Amino acid sequence: MIDKKAIEEHIRGILIALGDDPEREGLKDTPKRVAEMYEEVFEGMNYSNHEIAEMFGKTFEAEMDESIDTDRVVVMKDIDIFSYCEHHLALMYDMKVNVAYLPKGRVIGLSKIARVCDMVGRRLQLQEKIGKDIADIICEITGSEDVAVTIEGYHSCVTARGIKKTNTKTFSAELRGRFKTDASLQFYIK
Ligand SMILES: [Zn+2]
Repeated sequence: MIDKKAIEEHIRGILIALGDDPEREGLKDTPKRVAEMYEEVFEGMNYSNHEIAEMFGKTFEAEMDESIDTDRVVVMKDIDIFSYCEHHLALMYDMKVNVAYLPKGRVIGLSKIARVCDMVGRRLQLQEKIGKDIADIICEITGSEDVAVTIEGYHSCVTARGIKKTNTKTFSAELRGRFKTDASLQFYIK
C-alpha cells in the first residue's frame, strides 16, 4: 500500500532542498496534496498484472462458429491514458492506446479493456512496458495469444526539458502471436 505519510515528509524535504519555505501560504498544504495525488495516479502500483486481470476479468462466451474460418478481430482504439515515466517521475500525456485481439472463445467487455489500460498507466512506467503489461493482462483474461497493443504519447521529460522536442511523439507496439506476422491484422492497430 502507498505510504502517504512518508510521501508528505519527502515532498516537504524536496521543497526545502529547492530552497523554498514549506511553511509559506502557497506551499503549506502541498505535501499533503501531492500525497493525495500520488495515491490516485499510482493506484496501479498496489496490484500485480495478475490481480488486475482478476479485477476486470469478467468475460463473455463468444459465439464462435468453428465451421466458418473467419478471423474476428476485436479492436478498441484511442483509449486515453496518463502515466508517469520511471526515469524522471515526469508525466506522459495525450497517450492513445489501441488494443486488438483475436477472440478464442472468450470476449472481454470493451469498457473493461479501457479500465485495464487506465490501471496499467497508474504506475511508474515506460511506454513500452505499458504495452507489455496491457498485453499480459488481455492474454490472461481472454486466453488468446494473438494480442496487439500500440501506444503513442508525449513524454514531458522529452517535450519540456533536456532536448525540448515539443512535438516529438513516441510510438511503441507490442505484437504477439499472429499480429507479429500477419500484415492484414496489423492494419487494424495503425
Ligand atoms: Zn523520462
